[in-house]
Amino acid sequence: MGEHVDTICVQGGYQPGNGESRTPPIIQATTFKYTSSEQMSRLFDLSETGYFYTRLQNPTNDTVAAKICEMEGGVAAMLTSSGQAANFFALFNICNEGDHIVASSAIYGGTFNLINVTMRKMGITCTFVNPDCSPEELEAAFQPNTKAVFGESISNPALIVLDFDKFAKAAHSHGVPLIVDNTFPTPINCRPFEYGVDIVTHATTKYMDGHGSCVGGAIVDSGNFDWLAHSAKFPGLCTPDDSYHGVVYAKDFGKAAFITKATAQLMRDFGSTPAPINSWIMGMHLESLGVRMERHCANARAVAQFLEDDPRISWVSCPELPTDRYHALAEKYMPNGTCGVISFGVPGGREKVSAFLDHLKMISIATHVADARSCTLYPAGTTHRQLTEEQLEEAGVGVDLVRLSCGIENPDDIIADLRQALDAVFGE
Ligand SMILES: *Cc1c(COP(=O)(O)O)cnc(C)c1O
Repeated sequence: MGEHVDTICVQGGYQPGNGESRTPPIIQATTFKYTSSEQMSRLFDLSETGYFYTRLQNPTNDTVAAKICEMEGGVAAMLTSSGQAANFFALFNICNEGDHIVASSAIYGGTFNLINVTMRKMGITCTFVNPDCSPEELEAAFQPNTKAVFGESISNPALIVLDFDKFAKAAHSHGVPLIVDNTFPTPINCRPFEYGVDIVTHATTKYMDGHGSCVGGAIVDSGNFDWLAHSAKFPGLCTPDDSYHGVVYAKDFGKAAFITKATAQLMRDFGSTPAPINSWIMGMHLESLGVRMERHCANARAVAQFLEDDPRISWVSCPELPTDRYHALAEKYMPNGTCGVISFGVPGGREKVSAFLDHLKMISIATHVADARSCTLYPAGTTHRQLTEEQLEEAGVGVDLVRLSCGIENPDDIIADLRQALDAVFGE
């Protein structure tokens, strides 16, 4: 089938047999028919695999999950109805009331609220660490009840590249997995499992779909974390599940334990299932991810260089620029490219920032990134507006920060639009 990720994104997940449809079928069905109630019982007991209700599993969803799994080099994967659901499931699958998470403070605003507000209400606490902290500071964040370490491979919107080695070493020395949201670089540019990450999540809403059409998420397990070696920390995986007649996920499902538990328990009870039609559309869009990421990254480099050379801009952040603080980490973990999102500082306060955005013509203002169409957002005024100035600072999101998601248009047109808006606000 080919082993390069940009081949897998075209060919992976579905191999039709003789005379079968070239594209995967859309099984837009809630339920599946059986002739034997005995077999249906075995499906409910998890003693046999098969489809019975789409809230738990659906063949179209599984085809696309299999493609993403192959792209990440994992052993098992599942789709969820949103990126938020993916991150919640990935954490809640191993964290119970009274447990604790160590998380990078530079993460997506929605994930920050999930962990800092909603999961706290559930009795799961978190210590946030600056991703650039020293190994000693990271070490000090752990508690006896810590069950997971969480970060983003490239943080949204601060564009901080995670030091996988530092975070994986700390997580593993405490017998807990490192979970990384790999939404921004995608497996085309970064494969976190190669650097010690145990579980990867995605907002497929972003580059994977890439056309602003389907909200969705994914969880992929590397199969590398040995739950049974740390069984006291992970009773949910290592002791019998009474709601499934005593299956022990880590024993009965081996390397598929994490995804099986998340499907059987969390999907069953929370039901954040993607619609098969959405998975199918996203799966089609995945086929062009390799070529799209190349163009997104080339455009980001060109636009970042233009902004860096423009005296009206205070600063530019793009890990692909040799002058960027995270260039060395990007070279180490994602040598072929990072992502199409860059950020930069527009001086003069909130009003100037807004005026600049309002003058853009082609680049749209949208609560979205990682789209084929260039778009921009002012985080301090939108996604991060619940955060205090202090939290904004910790998240690496200043009041002057503009996030620009470079699409796949001709780079000269993106630059021309930025130039005319700067001319309008600051003069030529
Ligand atoms: C958008 C995003 C999410 C949330 O995904 P939704 O599909 O909007 O729920 C999570 N993590 C990152 C890095 C994101 O950019």
